[in-house]
Amino acid sequence: MTIPTLGEFDLIARYFTRTARRATVGVGDDCALLAALPAGEQLAVSTDMLVEGRHFLPGADPRDLGHKALAVNLSDLAAVGARPLAFTLALALPAADPLWLEPFAQGLLALADAFDIELVGGDTTAGPRNLCLTVLGSVPAAQMLRRGGARAGDTLWVSGTVGDARLALGHRRGEWTLDASALRAAAARMDRPTPRVALGQALRGVASAAIDVSDGLLGDLGHLLHASAVGATVEVDAVPASAALAAQPRQRRRLCQLAGGDDYELLFTAPAAAADAVRAAAAQAQTAVTPIGRIDAAGGLRLVDAEGRVVDNVFPGFDHFR
Ligand code: ADP
Ligand code: MG
Repeated sequence: MTIPTLGEFDLIARYFTRTARRATVGVGDDCALLAALPAGEQLAVSTDMLVEGRHFLPGADPRDLGHKALAVNLSDLAAVGARPLAFTLALALPAADPLWLEPFAQGLLALADAFDIELVGGDTTAGPRNLCLTVLGSVPAAQMLRRGGARAGDTLWVSGTVGDARLALGHRRGEWTLDASALRAAAARMDRPTPRVALGQALRGVASAAIDVSDGLLGDLGHLLHASAVGATVEVDAVPASAALAAQPRQRRRLCQLAGGDDYELLFTAPAAAADAVRAAAAQAQTAVTPIGRIDAAGGLRLVDAEGRVVDNVFPGFDHFR
C-alpha cells in the first residue's frame, strides 16, 4: 500500500537502506541473502511487536521508540546467549511523516550499530502505528540458554536493577508522583532499555537456565520454573533496585520490582558451585548481577523477606489477554 506525502519506496530508500555489510544482499531485493553460519553455529530467531496504545502511547518520542523496538528484540537474543547478526523491520504508519521517521530511524540504527546488528529488510504499509521486528542471531549449537534447565539447589540471579520502568509508568499513569530526578532516571530505563547482550553470551556454559524480564520478574520467573519443572524461593528485599526506586515506600518498590515489566534484565540460574563463574561472566560483560533466591525441588514460588519471613505473593505477572 502506498503512503501519501513521501512514497513508500522513497521512505525505504531514505531511512532504512544502508550499504549491506555482513549480508550478501540487504534492503532492496525481494529477499535478503545472508551467508551460512560458521560450522557449529546455529541461527536464533525471535520476533517482537510494539503496538501503539498497547506498548507505547500515541505521543511517544520516535527516537526512543526506534531504540526500544530493537532493544526488546535484542533482549530475546541476549536471553538465549546469541550474538546479534541481522534484523528485519515491518512498519505500519498512519502517515509517511519525515518528522517522525527521521528520529525513529536514528534511534533504531544507532542501537543497531552499537550492537553490530544489520537491518536487512522489512515491509512498510499504511495503517495504525505498529512496529514489528524479527532478529537473527548466532549461537553455538547446544549452547543456547534455555528456560528449562534450572535444577533444585541452583542459585537464582538477576542482572542490573529491576522495577524502574514500572516506577516511571506509575508516574505517567498518575498512580504516584516522582520528583524530577527520579522521574528522569526511571523514564530513561522505561524508554531506552539496555539489552544484556554481552552478559547472555558470557553466561553460555555457566547458566543452567535463563529468560529476559519483559512481563514482570515473578511472571517471567514463573515461565522459567514451569519449563524447568521446579519451584523457587525469592528473597524479595535482595532484588536490586536503582537509587530512585530504593527511595520509594516498601510496598511500591516491591510492586515495581516483582510485577513491573519492561525491565529487559536477564533472570537466570546456575549451580551454587558456579557462583565464581557467574561473577566472572558478569565482570567480562561489565554488567552487575545479584543472587536473589534459589531453585527448589518443590513446585511453586515462595517469597521471603530479609529475615526469612513469608511475604504474600500479591504480585501478578503481566498477560495481554487478562
Ligand atoms: P516486496 O514487494 O518484494 O515485498 P517491498 O516493496 O515490500 O518488497 O520492499 C522493498 C524492499 O525494501 C525489500 O528489500 C524489503 O525488504 C525492504 N523494506 C521494506 N520496508 C522496509 C523497512 N521498513 N525497513 C527495511 N527494509 C524494508
Ligand atoms: Mg513486501
